[in-house]
Amino acid sequence: MLTCSKTYRDIPFAHRQHRHNGHCSLIHGHNWAITLTFACQKTDANGFVVDFGDLKYLKTWIAQNLDHACLFNESDPESEALLAQFGHLFKAYILPNTSCEGLAQHLHGVFNPMVRAQTEDRVWVTQVEIEEDSKNSATYLPD
Ligand SMILES: [Zn+2]
Repeated sequence: MLTCSKTYRDIPFAHRQHRHNGHCSLIHGHNWAITLTFACQKTDANGFVVDFGDLKYLKTWIAQNLDHACLFNESDPESEALLAQFGHLFKAYILPNTSCEGLAQHLHGVFNPMVRAQTEDRVWVTQVEIEEDSKNSATYLPD
């Protein structure tokens, strides 16, 4: 197996952890980084796992869904009322869990099928690393 990785850095978006006892329950932002590791058994004609020039669809998805967004846990009891009243102030993105770990797992579920479709199943996403700042990160590796 061969791998390569691509990092999308300095993506500003907000989140909150509504169950957290401390300040993580408040809506706050980070400049996130998303590192995708791609894997294949057989490279393309250029010897690449993926051609980094052919990944614009991933950058576009990030720009459309995460850039300047506010992420909410789908179980967040405040988000529905908040968005009903102030939805015009938010680019909301709702997922099972907005932690680094939850986002890594969620984005694997988003990006892996996209990459497989784009490469006719030659390439898959084998790892997603999420950094919320320069100190904290989490990685999802599917079983
Ligand atoms: Zn945070």
